[in-house]
Amino acid sequence: MARDRRKPLSYNAMPNSDPAAYDPQSVEPKWQRRWEERGTNHADLYGASRPYFNLMMFPYPSAEGLHVGNVFAFVGADIHGRYQRLAGSDVFEPLGFDAFGIHSENFALKVGTHPAELIPRNIERFRGQLKRIGLMADWRYEVQTTDPRYYRWTQWIFLQLFRAGLAVRRRAAVNWCPACKTVLANEQVIGGYCERHPDVRVEQRMLDQWFFTISGYAQRLLEHLETADWSHSTRTIQANWIGRSEGAELVFETPGGRRITVFTTRADTVFGATYLVLAPEHPMVADLTTAEQRADVQAYRRKVAAMDLVSRKVGEKTKTGVFTGSYARNPATGAAVPIWIADYVLMEYGTGAIMAVPGHDERDFEFAAAMGLPCVRVVAAPGQDASTPLAAAEPDVPDGRLVNSPGYDGLPWSEAGRAITQALEARGLGKAVVNYRLHDWCISRQRYWGPPIPIIYCDRCGTVPVPEEDLPVVLPALEDFRPDDSGVSPLARLEAWYRVPCPKCGGTARRETDVSDTFLDSAWYFLRYPSADRDDLAFDAGLTRKWLPVASYIGGNEHAVLHLMYARFITMALHDLGLVPFEEPFRRFRAHGTIIKDGAKMSKSRGNVVNPDAYIDRWGADTFRMYLMFLGPYQEGGDFRDAGINGIRRFLDKVWTLVQDAVAQTAREEASPDLVRVMHRTILRVTEDTESLSYNTAIAAMMEYVNALRDGGAGKELLAPLAILLAPYAPHFAEECWDRLGGSGSVMDQSWPSFDATLAVAEQVELVVQVNGRVRSRLQLSRGASEDLVVKAALADPAVLKFTSGTAPRKVVFVPDRLVNFVV
Ligand SMILES: [Zn+2]
Ligand SMILES: [Zn+2]
Repeated sequence: MARDRRKPLSYNAMPNSDPAAYDPQSVEPKWQRRWEERGTNHADLYGASRPYFNLMMFPYPSAEGLHVGNVFAFVGADIHGRYQRLAGSDVFEPLGFDAFGIHSENFALKVGTHPAELIPRNIERFRGQLKRIGLMADWRYEVQTTDPRYYRWTQWIFLQLFRAGLAVRRRAAVNWCPACKTVLANEQVIGGYCERHPDVRVEQRMLDQWFFTISGYAQRLLEHLETADWSHSTRTIQANWIGRSEGAELVFETPGGRRITVFTTRADTVFGATYLVLAPEHPMVADLTTAEQRADVQAYRRKVAAMDLVSRKVGEKTKTGVFTGSYARNPATGAAVPIWIADYVLMEYGTGAIMAVPGHDERDFEFAAAMGLPCVRVVAAPGQDASTPLAAAEPDVPDGRLVNSPGYDGLPWSEAGRAITQALEARGLGKAVVNYRLHDWCISRQRYWGPPIPIIYCDRCGTVPVPEEDLPVVLPALEDFRPDDSGVSPLARLEAWYRVPCPKCGGTARRETDVSDTFLDSAWYFLRYPSADRDDLAFDAGLTRKWLPVASYIGGNEHAVLHLMYARFITMALHDLGLVPFEEPFRRFRAHGTIIKDGAKMSKSRGNVVNPDAYIDRWGADTFRMYLMFLGPYQEGGDFRDAGINGIRRFLDKVWTLVQDAVAQTAREEASPDLVRVMHRTILRVTEDTESLSYNTAIAAMMEYVNALRDGGAGKELLAPLAILLAPYAPHFAEECWDRLGGSGSVMDQSWPSFDATLAVAEQVELVVQVNGRVRSRLQLSRGASEDLVVKAALADPAVLKFTSGTAPRKVVFVPDRLVNFVV
């Protein structure tokens, strides 16, 4: 396939042609070979005494190859892992490939190659690229979600959840993309359109689907977030997605004795509920509909069934709905209120029925206005009263108090809800409840490229799990895997595959032909890594206890809601089944930033995509790694500019020259105390900054140090610690320097240099304090202290205070690091 043409790279200087010069093209392959020969990157999974699991989000191996965004993410995580190792941990840094799913399948369809052929090629290419950037990955434990040796255990996890009642099959309204020809998660629908097909409107379909009942875990998933050592942004996104709301369920009774339960977060407004609205799918609708209204109600329900869920949620501009003909009693006022159905109420939120309060809810107000329903004020702001007209809904009334609510008038609305709920509860007409936005996870897909769901349907025995010893249910080769509009997977065309004897009774039965969601593959891969070489179990109990929960997980915030939530849920479910000894999979999560190019997001259409290969060819992996980390704070990202990469290369060239000179030195000279102090300060800064993922400032500190060394002359004792500080950032380069400086073994087997705290802090100087030209005191302060700081310290000195009497001096004379004189 033709690659897109890229702008030629610009340079300020070409790499040096001097044979003694730093040449990454010879240094980097040499060390990669040695690492492989010596097993430098291997973790001793059984023998490790300080295990540290350094996890990064495994890539989807696209045909385009590694994206610079991947490289940025992996390098930052790799620096963290290497630092932890040098600081004394036994670091396990595995990698793998997440290659099932619609992305791979759609691409395969586009290029006309079977994914089973395409994916291994992509993985091969990705692995090569990942090795080239010098990650400390232990490739012995690579996982591929598309490998039956892996998905056998994905299917096994499904069976564990199925047995526990956490995997259920039910008919449900789902988002269906006519172009993808499969169901979509709510998060994959953007304003009513498919995430992958921005021109295709998503439809609503009623289909039998497999769900994991994650909603039952909502409260735990939320509570653990409070104490999780996670990026704040990620925790906030998750908490919003779980969407806990406290409210009440109130009961409206019909004259026929039916009880219609509504969920509301505003029980304080119940006196203003002038009608009820049920979701058109609500099970009571048929019984509530009177004979005169039947035709209208049926027509409306048919119309709504053809809509997608997401636009219903967003709410169309024009409100539509139909009266059922029935009434129910408002439990607070006792008045009969009409019962309507409308598309803006959904079965999946709350109880599928709402009390409409047009005075204080915008959607209810629009609906009431369109249908001519009454509107009553029940909350009044200061200056308003019970008869102040409502021109629009007033949902939030600052300092509002109840009106038209006999028994509660004058109560602040924020307090009234609880009191009213309690009173209704005493009459059996209400109770306080908590609701969540988080819905069950639909895991079935009507596509080909995924692990078959291990279920068999038998007419006699019903839904039968595939016996564990029969796993994996291998995805069969299927020439034509194109999805169709039937709502069933292409596997349903392979009768020879799905027709199987029932495992229970031996009668004719049929396999489930849907495959599982790719997010299930990635919801447990971290559990698999330490046991990736084992075919007898999904994850070894001893290794799991030793290496998990994951010590550090670094990835993009775009995965905050789907992947990270599902991984937490699966771990929690496995914990409850006694299969893992912890509830949360990741001790620490940090979201990395994103890279833009010349101020704009990278995209093919803009032609500003950075191809990592071209840069590594030119500059070497180490320069490229360091440049990416130098762009900005790792957790924020930065702007990639071709011109900037040269600065990093010059820095490495300088270090190289210093090392050559130090090696050539014959006479040993004592390092100057000043340089020793700078070294300790540099170690302190690089330690703190590397620890907190502030890689850009750590690099800046090393650059300052190198400039000081160039001015002052450097021996090996000043350079050897630098080689170790550099090892996480430029691992091949650091190995070569360490080697040339006479170090033994790999630089990665050394200890992170320690600093002498008294030397690391800035140097102290003595300042003379004068009042009206006479010396009154002396102060010890750090060199370079600002005038502000010196004046403040001097004026607070009791010896000085005696002569200034606490009044502000008329004039201040300041000589940095020497003197301050006050004229009073
Ligand atoms: Zn689509
Ligand atoms: Zn059977």
